[in-house]
Amino acid sequence: MSDLNTALAEKYKNSFLNEVIDNVEEGDMVRMCMQCGVCAGSCPMGPYWEHTPQKIFMMIRANQREAVLNSDSMWMCTSCYNCITRCPRGLPITHIMHGLATYSKRLGLVPQNQPTAKFAQLMWNNLTKLGRVNELKLVMSLYFMNGFGEGIKTAMTNQDIGLGMLKSGRMAISEAWGGRSINDKSGFQAMLKKAEEIEMANIEANSK
Ligand code: SF4
Ligand code: SF4
Repeated sequence: MSDLNTALAEKYKNSFLNEVIDNVEEGDMVRMCMQCGVCAGSCPMGPYWEHTPQKIFMMIRANQREAVLNSDSMWMCTSCYNCITRCPRGLPITHIMHGLATYSKRLGLVPQNQPTAKFAQLMWNNLTKLGRVNELKLVMSLYFMNGFGEGIKTAMTNQDIGLGMLKSGRMAISEAWGGRSINDKSGFQAMLKKAEEIEMANIEANSK
């Protein structure tokens, strides 16, 4: 357990809900959930999650910190927004799911080899390097994220899609050699660094 996680677990030992309110994007809205189950019934990923959003919100209020933060359920959210449009209490469920995922990542609690978390990191690294997504490199890093052999197999399976994208100009082979950058790349990266510093400072302050 990291020092930061230990400090937060200790500080909020009597109320994980308060920890979520203080540290998770729109976490204060968890208080509004009336456990109607509409989100759980509407979520296309529901059958594949360990815990549906409805259950996650109940677990937060039941102080099940470890079970929530170590879960990979929030990483399963595809941002389809079905739940948000249907929730009678207007909870920003999608944002809370992503907020919980980000928080667990900041505390180093993401389950090892969780595929969405791995992809999110690949996407972030790719996007922040030049300020725009290099699709060719993103696809290649995705294919090869679990090793060379699996990468070759996946590339062969999807070769028709890749060739179609290259032919239609949707993807450019030149992206393999560097790729285009936005104009103010260093300004963009400085902005992200500052945002990260502010967010971590907030979490660290809340751990005291
Ligand atoms: S639909 Fe809204 S109120 Fe109902 S369980 Fe889900 S989050 Fe709670
Ligand atoms: S946005 Fe996420 S939590 Fe909401 S219904 Fe879609 S997959 Fe489920």
